Amino acid sequence: MRDLSAAIRTIPDFPAPGIQFRDITTLLLDGAAFGACIEQLAAVVGEDFNLVAGIEARGFVFAAALAHSLGKGVLLLRKRNKLPGATLGVNYALEYGQDRIEMHADAVAPGTRVLLVDDLIATGGTAKAGAALIRQAGGVVVRAAFVIDLPDLGGADALRADGVEVVALVA
Ligand code: IMP
Repeated sequence: MRDLSAAIRTIPDFPAPGIQFRDITTLLLDGAAFGACIEQLAAVVGEDFNLVAGIEARGFVFAAALAHSLGKGVLLLRKRNKLPGATLGVNYALEYGQDRIEMHADAVAPGTRVLLVDDLIATGGTAKAGAALIRQAGGVVVRAAFVIDLPDLGGADALRADGVEVVALVA
């Protein structure tokens, strides 16, 4: 199986000094690596869901490609004030300040089974907010999938403690 970590680069001191930013744009530029990434995700996420939810913005890329490969629909979880229809939203803490993730209030019928997807999980704050939002809308978060997990930051464990199964390709 292809090692995807070779296609992901680390940029030091972005977006702030001391942060090692994992940059997946190099993986996206490499068609074979991106294809392998989607195939590897498809192999571990199962099929027991109806929708793939992507978190803005990098999560959209992986969620859309994965959903297409599995014949599922895509649910967009967006930053505040981007969606035109009535929305539900969840606020979550950032290191400095707060952010908000939103979805259309009528996007999921009660009981809809949803796979949550993002490029990377660090502290888990973003993914936990995404899961809370889908649940608030009446959906069931079947599982969460990430290209990269930074296990030292504890996000995957926090999400599991929240009752969400977690899979990731690169640690
Ligand atoms: P968390 O909420 O701390 O788990 O951070 C995860 C969110 O921040 C995801 O939406 C990621 O796209 C983004 N993120 C945090 N660190 C990185 C990184 O090193 N590379 C790419 N995205 C990151």
